[in-house]
Amino acid sequence: MKRIAIIAVVVVFLASPTRAAEIFILPFTDPPGPSTWYVVQFYGNTQGAYRNRVNWYQAGQGLHFGVDFAARCGTPVVAVGEGEIVGIDDLKRGAGPHNLLIEHPNGYVSLYGHLLEAPQLYIGQTVEQGQVVGLSGDPDGSCTSRPHLHLEIRSVGYGYAYNPLDFIEADWDSLALFGPSSGFQRDLNAPHRWQTLADQPSVDFWGPMLNEYDRPWPPSGW
Ligand SMILES: [Zn+2]
Repeated sequence: MKRIAIIAVVVVFLASPTRAAEIFILPFTDPPGPSTWYVVQFYGNTQGAYRNRVNWYQAGQGLHFGVDFAARCGTPVVAVGEGEIVGIDDLKRGAGPHNLLIEHPNGYVSLYGHLLEAPQLYIGQTVEQGQVVGLSGDPDGSCTSRPHLHLEIRSVGYGYAYNPLDFIEADWDSLALFGPSSGFQRDLNAPHRWQTLADQPSVDFWGPMLNEYDRPWPPSGW
């Protein structure tokens, strides 16, 4: 009997997901692909964030504090979880020209950035997981330069950002094969730090820069 109990505990342990908090879904309902959507930049210590650490990402300690999904303008975006609308075009949080923030019962906030237009929702409205809450757009407003959705997971109060991969069940390794910007910036003084999709630091907004590297690779201006 004791042995059965031990086996049961081991089975439960092995069956539990490696990322404990996978509670949200992807922000699109169509499957990924070249004609629908794919990841163009992951969260964290990306080369793109390093290049733009001062002009775009200083508030986020120099890191890319969301995941970028390439998608045509007008692609329906769905809520990653049920929750309450707490921000519409709250551009203090960045990611214009239009954004949306949803607070979830689990204590996290999802932010949908670079939307095409102000979502037809109201503050305090509750939405269901998977409900269409907006249309993807382009940070430049052109729909031809770099149309994509920027998705963040933040703390309530917005002070911290977390790696969305820890919250969303998806085949992220396969999605990494689609995108051109999955490379991470290297600090040759600590060359293995923050080099994988899952191993990325949380962001403490307006905390010190995390990627002012003495020996960056690729080097600045590469
Ligand atoms: Zn982004």
